[in-house]
Amino acid sequence: MKEFKSIALDGPSGAGKSTLAKRVAKHFGFIYVDTGALYRAIGLFVFRNGVESKDEKGVLGLLSQIRLGMHYDESGLQRMLLNDEDVSDDIRLPEISTYASDVSAIPAVREFLLNMQRDMAKSHNVIMDGRDIGTVVLPSADLKIFITADDSARALRRFKELTAKGVDVTFEDVARDMMQRDKNDSEREAAPLKAADDAITVDTTELDFEQSFQALVNLISEKFGL
Ligand code: C5P
Repeated sequence: MKEFKSIALDGPSGAGKSTLAKRVAKHFGFIYVDTGALYRAIGLFVFRNGVESKDEKGVLGLLSQIRLGMHYDESGLQRMLLNDEDVSDDIRLPEISTYASDVSAIPAVREFLLNMQRDMAKSHNVIMDGRDIGTVVLPSADLKIFITADDSARALRRFKELTAKGVDVTFEDVARDMMQRDKNDSEREAAPLKAADDAITVDTTELDFEQSFQALVNLISEKFGL
């Protein structure tokens, strides 16, 4: 019997995965694993080294210099370490989103991150958010949720999130970058964004945060009898 419970939470950007997963993790005492942060940390390293994110050879040449770490602060939030530097804020910059998406299409990059993600689920009850968690990383997750929303609702949420942090962006730029990223993530050959066959889809277009949170709590409570 498996010792730890695992929930795979996949979906496109801006569907609300990370905010919801954080709250759900706190509610049930699970660990929240944001796998996008791993791809973002690699994207940041590639960016800082002046290598083009689509330059597969250049990116692969950098992998051996990358040491990633994830740890949790007192409030249970994940901090991302890149060669011992806390890069949790830097990885959220919009240009790094594109770098993350580009490097994530490289199979060797995905391979590089696979065991790290699986190990987290071997030692904790996890809710893991990403694009391929239910299909590739944790194909035997106890519960798989695919969370989505209309394009415009997702772009608006991401725009509000960035402007609230003081990032200077226009709605049009956010929407365009997001659609491009979703297209890359869905059309790539290596572990594309898609719902696992046994995933339950939750569409949050018409739901506010509390309603979306409640929908997930209901699914999880029902599954684990919590
Ligand atoms: O989730 P987030 O938007 O932070 O992820 C950044 C990028 O990392 C995504 O656009 C996607 O290309 C990539 N990613 C991935 N597989 C995951 C998580 C993220 O390919 N499991």
